[in-house]
Amino acid sequence: MRIDVITVHPELLASPFSHSILKRARQKGLLEINLINLRDFAKNKHRTTDDYQYGGGAGMVMLCEPIANCLDHLLSERNYDEIIYMTPDGETLQQQTVNQLSLKQNIIILCGHYKGVDERIRQLYITKEISIGDYVLSGGELPAAVLIDAIGRLIPGVLNDETSALFDSFQDGLLSYPVYSRPEVFRGLKVPDVLLSGNEKLIREWRYEKALERTRARRPDLLKE
Ligand code: SAH
Repeated sequence: MRIDVITVHPELLASPFSHSILKRARQKGLLEINLINLRDFAKNKHRTTDDYQYGGGAGMVMLCEPIANCLDHLLSERNYDEIIYMTPDGETLQQQTVNQLSLKQNIIILCGHYKGVDERIRQLYITKEISIGDYVLSGGELPAAVLIDAIGRLIPGVLNDETSALFDSFQDGLLSYPVYSRPEVFRGLKVPDVLLSGNEKLIREWRYEKALERTRARRPDLLKE
C-alpha cells in the first residue's frame, strides 16, 4: 500500500513511522509512506500556503492553489482509492473504516493547519473526511499518524502473528479481554487459573465472557449496535 501525506510540516511525521511495527511494514515493502511538502507546490518566492479568510476573523486558511497543484501532480501519476482530509468535522474514525482502508492500494492524506483548508478543495477533491475525536488539534499531522498506524498494522503480513489483530478491541464489536504474562503471582495478585489450565475451549469461553463483561461495564453502547 502506498500512502502520500500532504503537509506543511513533514518533519512532524519523520518519527512515527520509523519505529516498531510500522518500520517493519516499510522495510518489508508492504507499506510505502511519502511525505510531501506542500510548500514545494506554492508558486511565490515566500512559498506561501495560507492567507487571511474572506469575511474577516482570526485565523488563516490554507490556500486552494498549492493544494490543487499538489493533488493534480499526484493524480497525474497514478489513481488513488481515497483522498482523505483530516478534520474535526469529519466522520469519527472507527475500526471498521480502518479495516476497509487497509485493503486499498493508494491513498492521499491531506493535513490541515490554522483554520483548515479552503472549502473548495473539500468540494473538488476530497473523497473522505476523518476526525480522530471530538477535540481540536493544531494540525492534521498527528491525526494522520494515528490513521496510518491503525491502517498499517492491519496490512496482511505486517503483524507477525496475523491473527492477533482479529482479537483486538472493536474487531468483533467488543472490548478486549484482560491479558496476563509472567509471573503467575504478582504482589499477591494471581493469574486466573483457567489461563494456566491448558484447556483451549475453556480459555476461549473465559475470554469471551470477560470481553462481554468489560464491554457491558465500559461501553454498553457497543452492545446495542
Ligand atoms: N477550524 C477548524 C479546526 C482546524 S484545526 C474547525 O473548527 O473545525 C487545524 C487542522 O488540524 C485541521 O485542518 C485538521 O487537519 C487538523 N485537526 C485538528 N483536530 C482534528 C481532529 N480531531 N481530527 C482530525 N484532524 C484534526
